[in-house]
Amino acid sequence: MTTSDFDALKVLVVDDDSYQRLVIGKMLSAIGVPTVHFAESAQRALVMMGTTDIRVDALICDLDMPEMDGMEFLRRVAEQGFECSVIILSGKDANILRSVELMAKEYRLAVLGSLEKPATIGTLRTLLQQHWARPKARERGTQPALSVDAIRAGLEAGQFEPFFQPKVSLQTGQVCGAEALARWRHPERGILPPVAFIGPIEESGQMDGLTWMMLDRSAAWCRRWCDDGLDIPVSVNLSLSSLHDTRLSNRLLDIVNAHRIKPANLLLEVTETTAMTDVARCLETFSRLRMKGFGLSIDDFGTGFSSLQQLSRIPFTELKIDQSFVADASAQPSLRAVIESSVQLAKNLGLKTVGEGVETRDDWLCLKQAGCEIAQGYFIAKPMEGGLLLPWVKEWQSKSSV
Ligand code: C2E
Ligand code: MG
Ligand code: MG
Repeated sequence: MTTSDFDALKVLVVDDDSYQRLVIGKMLSAIGVPTVHFAESAQRALVMMGTTDIRVDALICDLDMPEMDGMEFLRRVAEQGFECSVIILSGKDANILRSVELMAKEYRLAVLGSLEKPATIGTLRTLLQQHWARPKARERGTQPALSVDAIRAGLEAGQFEPFFQPKVSLQTGQVCGAEALARWRHPERGILPPVAFIGPIEESGQMDGLTWMMLDRSAAWCRRWCDDGLDIPVSVNLSLSSLHDTRLSNRLLDIVNAHRIKPANLLLEVTETTAMTDVARCLETFSRLRMKGFGLSIDDFGTGFSSLQQLSRIPFTELKIDQSFVADASAQPSLRAVIESSVQLAKNLGLKTVGEGVETRDDWLCLKQAGCEIAQGYFIAKPMEGGLLLPWVKEWQSKSSV
């Protein structure tokens, strides 16, 4: 990207410190941003943004301001529906910046990142360059939501299928499993991820159809891979409604028998929130599943409310550390501390540990150092069609170790 790419960018700098405004203004003009507005307070900024003659593409906002601070300002920006990217500017420590970033993302603001004081031109340029990647996401978000009827018709027409994401041993690099993730091959919109359809399916009480299709097709793929010499377990995500079905274990046995795979080749993933409700019924189901030899995995570990309680009473075999702790763990000591403690806890309970959302070599090394056994994430491979897994495994294993 060249500096001329900033030609059309309009930036508003909100900071009560006149010297800071001056410094950021000079940096913005040095990297070629032609239109820069300044506000000495959050209130003034809101007034400016509300006037029709000022369009703001990106906000650079200080946190520590008298009267209205940066947090309240960002909430108001979100509430008023202003469409702009946000860069947070502050001299506060990295943990505070991170929690404000998360807050702004929860408000659905397009956060480009934080600029720690003293700001540098390089970081500012890198953050602003990301602004242009954002509109695409917004455009995608404006597609009309898919109706429950359309989803049901898609399911009946067999347009849904599992994609598979490999899991790899951090010690040896060997492929040691694959997670099945639902995809909808939509005739007009292309391949759609679960976020486009899981919510409406759950709400309309139709999860069963999706879950059993996923289980059946995943078991079928597992059989094919076994026949081709790749004997790995396949993980399938279970929803709350499946856990309430007391016939679950028998239906699962029917599936593994039909496809001539072992129960141990099927690993059932449940999220903490799923595991939490209707304790007695779920405990009955979990105990029976384990007795029959199925694997049980606690997904998104660390994001629920009673993780430790779940862990102490449900006979899990695997713990998946949520990707929000893995991404960027190498740079953030607080995330590393969560990973290390989770791994230790899992080890004490005799569970395998999986780090999800491994996107970089640094994330990989960080998990390995913490003693985590298995990694899953884009650094290794994105979810892929069933037919592509074996060729991928061959290529992965022919490469030198990670
Ligand atoms: P999950 O079970 O925690 O699956 C992991 C999600 O993280 C997947 O998203 C995967 O594509 C994504 N992912 C993997 N590696 C990376 C990475 O390095 N970076 C990032 N940013 N993301 C990564 P996906 O496929 O969109 O699925 C989202 C969630 O939808 C799943 O989270 C799972 O809870 C749910 N889901 C998917 N398939 C099914 C299903 O068949 N049944 C049920 N009940 N839920 C499903
Ligand atoms: Mg999962
Ligand atoms: Mg997960």
